[in-house]
Amino acid sequence: MHIGILGGTFDPPHIGHLVIADQACAQLRLDRVWFAPAGDPPHKSNQATPVEHRIAMLQLAIQDNPRFELCRVDVERPGPHYSFELVEILYAHHPGCAWHFILGADSFMEMPHWRNPERLIALARLGVAQRPGTSIDTGTVEHALPGITQRVDWVDTPLIDVSSTDLRRRVRAGWPLRYVTPETVVAYIERAGLYR
Ligand code: ATP
Repeated sequence: MHIGILGGTFDPPHIGHLVIADQACAQLRLDRVWFAPAGDPPHKSNQATPVEHRIAMLQLAIQDNPRFELCRVDVERPGPHYSFELVEILYAHHPGCAWHFILGADSFMEMPHWRNPERLIALARLGVAQRPGTSIDTGTVEHALPGITQRVDWVDTPLIDVSSTDLRRRVRAGWPLRYVTPETVVAYIERAGLYR
């Protein structure tokens, strides 16, 4: 089995997440993509919406795609949640699987500042998608993490200029989220009164 992992805060999930996961799934021939919300993301501690809401929204967002599943590993263990540990746990618990860590260009460029990225790329290949606002400079990342580019598969995605930060801003302004995240997620955000 080839399994993609899309880690993130998903506060809230949006079409950017769904499109890169779907394109990675097809182009890297993945059997599944596991969406792994970080309960306690190291770079966003104390600011994230309670994880139960983020899980509920993610479940609604992925429910119509039989290859998409929720991965609770980082919800059920104490944080902070580093991606290399998530991959280590999955690798140990699912022998025989090949792992593909999916990420946007902004996250890829940040990898030299992550905790133990060497371990992550030893255990998983990277599926990297373009993201508006970030130009990929492989030289810089390769300089910091020699050998990383050999572990990358580039995922050809439409550029989607959407972020969770922007969705939260739109809710605060009273503007619609329709079409930037599934209708079920829009309804959940309204019902739960999130991001006002
Ligand atoms: P925030 O605005 O709160 O920082 P975000 O929109 O970046 O959130 P995350 O949940 O932090 O969303 O992202 C999880 C992963 O998905 C990261 O690897 C990120 O690069 C990738 N990603 C998110 N949105 C996009 C997008 N529009 N295009 C490409 N990659 C994306």
